Amino acid sequence: MVTDHAPRPTTRRPALPASLTPALLARLTGRISAAADAERVTTSAPYTGVPLADLPVSTPADVRDAYTRARAAQTSWAALPSGERKRILLRFHDLVLLRQDEALDLMQAENGKTRRDAFLEVTDIAITARYYARNAARYLSPRRRRGAIPVLTHTTELRHPKGVVTVISPWNYPLSMAAGDALPALMAGNAVVQKPDTQTALTALWALDLMHEAGLPDGVWQMVVGRGSSIGDTLMDNADYMMFTGSTASGRKIARDAGRRLIGASLELGGKNPMLVLADADVEKAAAGAVAACFPSAGQLCVSVERLYVAESVHDAFVAAFTARTARLKLGAAYDYGIDVGSLTTPAQLKTVSAHVEDAVAKGATVLAGGRARPDLGPLFYEPTILADVTPDMTLYDQETFGPVVSVHPVHDVEEAIARANATPYGLNASVWSRDGARARSLAARVRAGTVNVNEAFAAAWGSIDAPMGGMGDSGLGRRHGADGILKYTEPQTVAHQRLQGFTPPARMAPETWAALLTRALKILKAAGVR
Ligand code: NAD
Repeated sequence: MVTDHAPRPTTRRPALPASLTPALLARLTGRISAAADAERVTTSAPYTGVPLADLPVSTPADVRDAYTRARAAQTSWAALPSGERKRILLRFHDLVLLRQDEALDLMQAENGKTRRDAFLEVTDIAITARYYARNAARYLSPRRRRGAIPVLTHTTELRHPKGVVTVISPWNYPLSMAAGDALPALMAGNAVVQKPDTQTALTALWALDLMHEAGLPDGVWQMVVGRGSSIGDTLMDNADYMMFTGSTASGRKIARDAGRRLIGASLELGGKNPMLVLADADVEKAAAGAVAACFPSAGQLCVSVERLYVAESVHDAFVAAFTARTARLKLGAAYDYGIDVGSLTTPAQLKTVSAHVEDAVAKGATVLAGGRARPDLGPLFYEPTILADVTPDMTLYDQETFGPVVSVHPVHDVEEAIARANATPYGLNASVWSRDGARARSLAARVRAGTVNVNEAFAAAWGSIDAPMGGMGDSGLGRRHGADGILKYTEPQTVAHQRLQGFTPPARMAPETWAALLTRALKILKAAGVR
């Protein structure tokens, strides 16, 4: 094991930020839909393990009440002119930027990520709020469609809100995953009942609180807290649409249950994302890109990279540059911008990461950087880790670690790189590095992934909010962002008004004559180039 590349400890364990006052925590937890005498659950701060929040837990009855309130509020919310919903979302946008320090403190305290990683979530939510505020009307307004018979059929496509959308979100991107999927659902005129992960519920509640400050009416967005095993069925049974982000295993259950209920579901699931470094890549840039791709939020990012396929001709130079950059990363806990890599979020995550690395090392993997937990920095820290000689018998070869661990594989040529990139059931995100952008873009189309970034890790595709984002294969169903990210929350309806002549022969015309007339009309339409 190479230990001289271990990241340097940089900070002592910080106390909780002063902005997390008892008054703020009480205001946020007061927004949870739960009875006054509810059972409580205590979360702890990953940086230190100290207790963080004492949250009421929602029972199935509390969840049913939340849907009743949401359903009652949805009708008048949907009836508002869309300009009013737009104003609320744009006010929310401004408040998020204005009060970002509070959100950054909360995200760091609940998740253990660095301030830089938390700030990305602030920008993401500002972009999402602005985009759907400014574009929803374009997607949702009634739209004329070509009628069955030109001129005679007046056809309009309408978009109705689904009703009450259920949003279930994980802990790894507590603001992006919670608010990012709720905002377009709200903008489309739905009410939302949301279950954020308990560990990061405060951040989700902060977004809800700010939406109220921005003018959201009571009842339209409800938040419940609890385990999937306790309130998951109630969330499913009352949903008109299910927006789920989490693991592939949980997503399969959600999909089965949505099928039973015959409701739509959007599933954003796990990945084992590849990065391809081609022979003509700028090695230094690719090495810097690999750091950005592998270690954000300590690798607890669905679109982060866990497999690197590097052309043999640049492999050694790339590995040297990547390893050196990784060794320079500052690992630690601090509520400022001085740290590169933060903590893992939960003991379960630390256990998985440690087990994956131990399994690989026991079976012959070589540790090029990192490779161990850092309890001296905090209970859940793990070093950014690069492994070589990773083989198919090792768990992390093709299973998601969801931590700061990447395996590097030399490849003979581009064909091998693409074949190996595609050799998992997942298909979430990928990254291709080359000096020839046009060639890289055409190779990107052959990688089986919902998003592929050229000369960038993940932010180019994720930040392209006008384009769809989501996974192929075991990485999910449906898309967020762009038109898909809001239209999925609507029920399309076609209203077709037939004027003058319909589809039956006019009075006194023989059916044969009518058939001949229609046949000629169809030929003319095709010849005229009508689509
Ligand atoms: P998880 O599936 O265990 O839990 C995610 C959330 O779903 C939690 O809030 C959990 O309480 C809830 N949940 C789980 N089963 C449920 C059920 N039957 N009913 C109701 N709620 C239920 O996932 P996790 O391990 O907490 O999150 C990490 C996973 O999420 C990783 O696999 C990661 O790749 C994935 N993820 C995917 C994306 C994406 O956009 N594709 C984004 C973030 C995370």
